[in-house]
Amino acid sequence: MQGKGLLTGMWVTLKEFFRKKVTEEYPDVMPDLGDRFRGGTLKLKTSKCISCGICQNACPNGSIKLTSVRDENNKRKLSTYVHDAGLCLFCNLCIDACPVKCIDWTGEFAFSGYSREDLVFDCIDLAQKRGYDPVEVKEPPADGEKG
Ligand code: SF4
Ligand code: SF4
Repeated sequence: MQGKGLLTGMWVTLKEFFRKKVTEEYPDVMPDLGDRFRGGTLKLKTSKCISCGICQNACPNGSIKLTSVRDENNKRKLSTYVHDAGLCLFCNLCIDACPVKCIDWTGEFAFSGYSREDLVFDCIDLAQKRGYDPVEVKEPPADGEKG
């Protein structure tokens, strides 16, 4: 039929015109990367953390450094918790290993900095600033007991 190709082309164009938009207007609109996205630094729920150090031991790249102190009941309390996102492989081993599920990803993906130190995060400070789970933390001991 004469003009069939033209009609088909117009039909395809019309369908595309009404299709849901797939182009994301980043950086004006942040993309939704889904729950399984691994990125940013570690979102720590400080009050849930039992300072067991399993995440630190599970990390194959030494990206997590934490210290703890013992309270009056001889229980470990988190003192410092640092995540070096510049060393991180985003392998999820720390998150999978945590027995109380108190770490997760913050989910940022657009990281940049002028030095390596810009990618080192104090997760306790971040948790307090961002309101993930603000709690009082103990001061580290002079000799910095490792968790
Ligand atoms: S995601 Fe992997 S590399 Fe990164 S801190 Fe966790 S265990 Fe370490
Ligand atoms: S594994 Fe979980 S509970 Fe243990 S120190 Fe790490 S974040 Fe805290």
